[in-house]
Amino acid sequence: CGVFGIYGHEKAAEMTYYGLHALQHRGQEGAGIVTSDKEALHIHKGIGLINDVFSEGQIKNLPGNSAIGHVRYTTQGGGGYENVQPLVFRSQTSGLALCHNGNLVNAFALKSNLEAQGSILQTTSDTEVVAHLIKRSGHLPLEEAIKQALGMIKGAYAFIIMTEDTMYVALDPRGFRPLSLGKLGESYVVASETCAFDLIGAKYEREVKPGELLIINEDGLRSTTYSSPMSRTLCSMEYVYFSRPDSNVNGLNVHASRKVMGKQLAKEAPVEADIVTGVPDSSISAAIGYSEASGIPYEIGLVKNRYVGRTFIQPSQELREKGVKMKLSPVRGIVEGKRVVMIDDSIVRGTTSRRIVNLLKEAGAAEVHVRIASPPIVNPCYYGIDTSTKGELIAANYSLEEMRKEIGADSLAFLSVDGLESSIVKEDTLEQGICHACFTGKYPTEIYPDTLNPAYK
Ligand code: 5GP
Ligand code: SF4
Ligand code: MG
Repeated sequence: CGVFGIYGHEKAAEMTYYGLHALQHRGQEGAGIVTSDKEALHIHKGIGLINDVFSEGQIKNLPGNSAIGHVRYTTQGGGGYENVQPLVFRSQTSGLALCHNGNLVNAFALKSNLEAQGSILQTTSDTEVVAHLIKRSGHLPLEEAIKQALGMIKGAYAFIIMTEDTMYVALDPRGFRPLSLGKLGESYVVASETCAFDLIGAKYEREVKPGELLIINEDGLRSTTYSSPMSRTLCSMEYVYFSRPDSNVNGLNVHASRKVMGKQLAKEAPVEADIVTGVPDSSISAAIGYSEASGIPYEIGLVKNRYVGRTFIQPSQELREKGVKMKLSPVRGIVEGKRVVMIDDSIVRGTTSRRIVNLLKEAGAAEVHVRIASPPIVNPCYYGIDTSTKGELIAANYSLEEMRKEIGADSLAFLSVDGLESSIVKEDTLEQGICHACFTGKYPTEIYPDTLNPAYK
């Protein structure tokens, strides 16, 4: 998912619309914006892409100088209108809007608790749990209630919460998800990725820190903490696949990091070949890096139809398989008779690699050597990226040689975990660590048995 917030701008809804546009790659299943005009909260949301959900008229109908917005990518809780964020809760006296990127690992237990105590949950998303926890501490000032609620949830989250007069921004104590703070003139802006700042002309200020709570209102911006700092475990998949190449995640440019991954991959897994090609779009940077380090020329061997969305995000396997076919075409004139190194950023189920090897061979490639710019994914993610269940992960169920056969490649190799880590982490400090649990199984948090509850997934 992607989150965006802006405080103190006369065109808050419009800026949020543009910001969400830049974050569209982070989720295509639903989108929403909530604004505040100090008196009340106004909401518009729906299923689909930003452009499907919002027309110009709908943006104009969202008055006020502050806004938060969300693009949804379903990892749990399911699709459906009621799970599209931001969620708004109204009481007699005030409103509360929330949106969230990430995944809580103890949501199921918290939900069961809340239900046992009489709460009626309207959605199946984690976000609502936090709203209920906040409401339960309603006797406290809101800032304290939010801190208390954040203290009870575990897992990965970047939250933006808004009332009529104040915006609260929080990142989990390990900082799994990226979250940046910027300024547009005198207005404060927060976004999952810095590409949203570039689009609206905002200036990057700094990262939101793990365990930090920002309070933005008429008095300006105040930073407080609700948890003592733990070493950061930023999701390495943000660099490998998820974030946009023009974003800087935790201060490091995503394209540059992918290029280093590609270079490292060339060192670890060299091969004799005529051309290097990347699977557009997310693997181009790594392919350029591989080409630079190996001296094998980079070529556009595959072209993407830009009007088809990201295949991975369409929920069923059948749709995914169709999607890949609609999406990519080989460039026959380039690959015919050539030994091709085909770089992809990751293998999840193996669908993409298998199809692309097939396409390249059909187009006359003499050999196809698949090089993956991340390690084999052998564990599910519980922190908000849909890397699927263990049963569906090809690397969790096949040996390297079996995988090579399965995808029909002449050779197959993956980047090592150390190679990935060294491409991202420059200094070994509290702020710089990454999560690599889907590759290593070393989950940075406790994984509650209920996280695995199939009914909940
Ligand atoms: P597969 O086809 O092996 O199931 O998935 C891997 C491909 O899906 C890669 O080409 C990658 O770019 C793309 N992809 C789309 N969404 C995701 C995601 O959330 N995680 C990962 N690791 N890859 C994804
Ligand atoms: Fe990211 Fe993998 Fe960790 Fe999930 S398990 S947060 S996808 S690195
Ligand atoms: Mg891809």
